[in-house]
Amino acid sequence: MRIVRILKFGGSSVETPQRIRQVISITQAARQDGPVAIVVSAFGGVTDDLVRIAERAERRDDGWERALDAIDARYQEATRELVSDEALSEPLAALSGIFQEVRELAHGVSLLREASPRARDRILSVGELASATVVAAAFRDQGVAAEAADARELIVTRAEFGGAGVLETETRSRIRAWFASRTDLQVVTGFIAATEAGETTTLGRGGSDFTASILGDALDVDAIELWTDVDGVLTADPRVVPGALPLPLLAYDELMELAHFGAKVVHPPSVHPARRRGIPLLIRNTLRPEGVGTRVEVAPADVRDTAPVRGLASIPGVALLRLEGDGMIGVPGIAARLFGALARNAVSVIMISQASSEHSICFAVAPDAKERASRAVEEEFEAEQRAGLVDELVTEEHLSIVAVVGAGMRERAGVAGRLFGVLGRRGVNVRAIAQGSSEINISLVVAREDEARALNAVHDAFFAGGERSVRVYLAGPGCVGRALLGQMAAREVSLARERGYRLVLGGIADSKGALMDDDGIPPGEALERLAAAGRRVPLDDLVAAAARDPDGVFVDCTASPVVADRCADLLAAGTAVVSANKLGPAGTLDHWRALRRVPTRFRFETTVGAALPLVSVIEDLVATGDEVRGIDGVLSGTLAYVLDQVANGRRFSEAMRDAHDRGYTEPDPREDLAGRDVGRKILILARLAGRDFELADVAIEPVLPVEGWGELTLDDFWSQLPVMDDVFARRQAEATRRRERLAYLARLEGTGARVRLESVPASHPAASLRGTDNLVALTTRRYQPAPLVVRGPGAGPELTASGVFADLLRAVAQR
Ligand code: ADP
Ligand code: ASP
Ligand code: MG
Repeated sequence: MRIVRILKFGGSSVETPQRIRQVISITQAARQDGPVAIVVSAFGGVTDDLVRIAERAERRDDGWERALDAIDARYQEATRELVSDEALSEPLAALSGIFQEVRELAHGVSLLREASPRARDRILSVGELASATVVAAAFRDQGVAAEAADARELIVTRAEFGGAGVLETETRSRIRAWFASRTDLQVVTGFIAATEAGETTTLGRGGSDFTASILGDALDVDAIELWTDVDGVLTADPRVVPGALPLPLLAYDELMELAHFGAKVVHPPSVHPARRRGIPLLIRNTLRPEGVGTRVEVAPADVRDTAPVRGLASIPGVALLRLEGDGMIGVPGIAARLFGALARNAVSVIMISQASSEHSICFAVAPDAKERASRAVEEEFEAEQRAGLVDELVTEEHLSIVAVVGAGMRERAGVAGRLFGVLGRRGVNVRAIAQGSSEINISLVVAREDEARALNAVHDAFFAGGERSVRVYLAGPGCVGRALLGQMAAREVSLARERGYRLVLGGIADSKGALMDDDGIPPGEALERLAAAGRRVPLDDLVAAAARDPDGVFVDCTASPVVADRCADLLAAGTAVVSANKLGPAGTLDHWRALRRVPTRFRFETTVGAALPLVSVIEDLVATGDEVRGIDGVLSGTLAYVLDQVANGRRFSEAMRDAHDRGYTEPDPREDLAGRDVGRKILILARLAGRDFELADVAIEPVLPVEGWGELTLDDFWSQLPVMDDVFARRQAEATRRRERLAYLARLEGTGARVRLESVPASHPAASLRGTDNLVALTTRRYQPAPLVVRGPGAGPELTASGVFADLLRAVAQR
């Protein structure tokens, strides 16, 4: 019976009885197309536990027994759940035999105080042995004739432990003989093998993939399917790059490079047997079997036509060693001696880069090989070092290798240049580079702490079809900030679809400090997490993070002078800033000029008239050569609302309180009543119109004479406010008698600007305003005598937030 497919189910695919049921249904579906064999891993996490058990036994830490019992119990429980009572005794007896043997072995390790690689492999093997037992029994329970197959009968290796070399010829003939005589579904243990003498070995961590590939090769199947917990091979590790995308097609070479450089999704050697025979490898998601997953085959035709960069991978914690010296220049054979010495000492070199001057050779090794490597090199070049021809070996640690992989890079110029540009802009320092001669991999060495940033930066830049992530740093989670977060959360999915990027909240600060998270804080959870955060970092840390992120956007939704000050620093550092805070653009003239140095980098539409287009309209007029001659209007949605209420007979203090409760007023309503808020707004518009004003140049008449109220606490202020009701009621009565309306008007004309409460006739445009409506008439060289009029609601958190959001999107589009 010819086996047409091998299906391998990894640890997470057999983690729970429910998943095992899924495995059965996937297998049954596959069997429609012909006979299959399946390979299973240990239940998720079990091999890691077994590694620790071996270590603990070696240390005589008694905990190992309990830990082993827990694994035993986990397999028994799964069996009881999957197998009906009548059929239970057989698998349970088998499990008990498997665990008893390993218990004795671990006991031996603890007596000897030594876990030899041999004993360790034997201990690790129980995970896969137990899995195959349970899964085969579960199949039988569903009426499928199935048996557990112990791969130690099938795969023969050299007597190496912890990752043994396979003896191919012997292995192939055993596999063929085995399958020739079997008709039941074979549930083969992954990961494990045996020497010719029958001693248990393993194929290295993650080696169940290799088991599947070896079987597929020997049986010359049509496809090898690796079923795991992600939608195939993704453009990057989704745990590090949240926007990683599935790759429907991949070349063997590409997968091999990704796997060798840390993409844990496939065990690197597994690719070889499949490639040799041209058997397609399919990587698929057990949790989403309807998905297509990834198909790996000989350079699929369209690989070249797609993006030059196909995927990213990384190896954390490597060490970089550099051999340098004038005596190396032009001397043949130095590299050969260096790598010969490393090979003899079993140091595997992850990456090599040589400067063209031949003055230095640089290579990267795994952290645990660092000592061995140094010793090997020092010994090899002892004589040269003594003669001063070669310097002492320089070692740098806490580094990571980031590999950028793609067959299309060969065909396209400029990938490396773009790569370094991107990393430079994100402030990632590249310590060393290497490009394989096949040109399908560019490897970079960066600081360990820059690894995630580097991966995300490169991912953003090269996967244009994918989602770019843009970091947002928010100060001020008040009414507007809160509404903004809500709007961001609601638009998250559509933004990715329509504009190809995700807004990721990198941090959020209130007056007590900041909360930051490199992984991003879901906007919907930000306030809760900020409130719950035990320790905050200082606001300046958030500002510093934004300053280091020239692709990020800092958003100021505060009314704080401190935050307004930091905005200028951020703009100077190249980070875009969106501000709803008037204190920045209405600060000193010098500050205004600093903010406006690169006009597109600083956006502040909502500082005047909430989301109404005022700032942008004046900017456009001026930029296109118009000249603003006069600005006239109602610039306070808050006061417009209060005056409208009072005109309708409400007491002034009540109307103020109501406006406050609706989030219309400034945090301190005295800013509104003293006219400073409107004063700042006309100042901002005047500056946009080209007037070099300071706030002192605006003549402000307060709404109410509240001088002397500045010392009151906010609470006292509110309780004093009704004193003003009568004064105000009299002004209103006077206006009513004359059939007029009260309006708080701001005006720029000729050389001056002023703000004051006026009584206007019913024919005045301001008399018809309702609610929080703002109204601004712009008289310009082009717009006269009829002015350009902007009118509409000019207050409220949702509206203001929408304006901030629009500024934010514009800032991103500009990048
Ligand atoms: P299994 O137990 O099924 O063999 P593994 O945990 O060995 O599964 O491999 C799958 C995991 O590999 C994924 O959950 C993912 O976190 C990780 N991974 C790393 N790089 C990649 C990548 N480029 N594409 C997909 N998964 C990746
Ligand atoms: N169980 C083994 C490991 O965790 C093999 C595998 O899962 O592929 O390394
Ligand atoms: Mg794996």
